[in-house]
Amino acid sequence: MTERLYFVDSHLFENECRVLCCEPAAEGYDVLVDRTVFFPNKGGQPCDVGTLGGVAVTDVREAGEDLLLRTDAPLPVGATVVGHIDEGRRLDIMEQHTGEHLLSWCAFKLFDAANVGFHCALSYATLDLDKPLTPEQIAAMEDMANALVRRNLKVSAAFYDSEADLQNVPLRKHAEGLTAPIRVVSIEDADSCTCCAPHVHSTGEIGCIKITAAAAYKGGMRCTFLCGGRALRYFQSLQRTVDTLARGFSTGAEEVLSAVDKQTQELKELKKDKAALTARLETYLVRELMDRAREVKGKKLLVELVDTDPKRLRPLALGTLPERGLSLLLCEKAGNLTYVVCSNGIGLDMGELIPAINLALSGKGGGRGTLAQGSAPTPSGLTETLHQLTAYLTARLQSL
Ligand SMILES: [Zn+2]
Repeated sequence: MTERLYFVDSHLFENECRVLCCEPAAEGYDVLVDRTVFFPNKGGQPCDVGTLGGVAVTDVREAGEDLLLRTDAPLPVGATVVGHIDEGRRLDIMEQHTGEHLLSWCAFKLFDAANVGFHCALSYATLDLDKPLTPEQIAAMEDMANALVRRNLKVSAAFYDSEADLQNVPLRKHAEGLTAPIRVVSIEDADSCTCCAPHVHSTGEIGCIKITAAAAYKGGMRCTFLCGGRALRYFQSLQRTVDTLARGFSTGAEEVLSAVDKQTQELKELKKDKAALTARLETYLVRELMDRAREVKGKKLLVELVDTDPKRLRPLALGTLPERGLSLLLCEKAGNLTYVVCSNGIGLDMGELIPAINLALSGKGGGRGTLAQGSAPTPSGLTETLHQLTAYLTARLQSL
């Protein structure tokens, strides 16, 4: 059985130990030592990493009552070595983990909501509650948790030899299926629950708790939160964003929101104006295009590459149709060609024409009746291709 020193002191970052066993593993070696400060992957959070006898420890896992440390090099059995965990990582995870205790306690006390899940990754942490809460309730929970942080309450752990010994302990959460001795972690004047992980010594170490997102999840709610250093970095990032926006608007940070609102309104107006101007411009463009159509046996034929938005190509093409005629309009944007072919009063199905147009332009498209459309990467020699298509369509109109 590996002696777990993180139970003795969560702020013990190194210890001397004896190598009991060292076996090759899939990636590196599994090393068993008699005692260690390393915490394994457990309880929804990642393990400690660090060094053991000067070689890297990349993973720690439980194997019954033992802990196996995955190293990247072998260590001699029987040797006495020093294990050292990554202190920053341990402190960061303890901040998140103990912060989760406080948030869970506040959700329980304020709204009778139970913690039904916890996950701590290296960049975020989530807490699942069994009932949905309003944004105001989430804010109240966050306020209360931060008030408990500022009181710098003592966090302690105690072992109980049996379930019976736990009868008089007011637990918020009692994990099922635990084997004695059962560890209970308590925050002075607040939370008590069964837990196996390392925690901060007092709540002040958490620094700050910020819930950054709260979304409906499995009939309850999933809260994403940041504690301590993570919360500070989050605020620093937000401040950089707001400062950049403020400089962009030549205003102060407090006025950014109203500046954005004002610009959003202006943008709406401009879009409206642009749509009206585009519509007017298109009426002129349609007239100009219709003037360029050639006469083929009593029908009009128009084949033109136009400078317009691909989304406007279809209404533009339809607008150029006379009583009897056929229009093939194309437009080019960012190396892509869009084309629309449509007709009126000539008794020719566009579904018959589009394969030849696709072939000429190396494009893909389809349609039937009076309209077909397609797209292609802009081909080289487009002018020549358009001459050939004009000749082809002229011949088709002549044959009708
Ligand atoms: Zn805990």
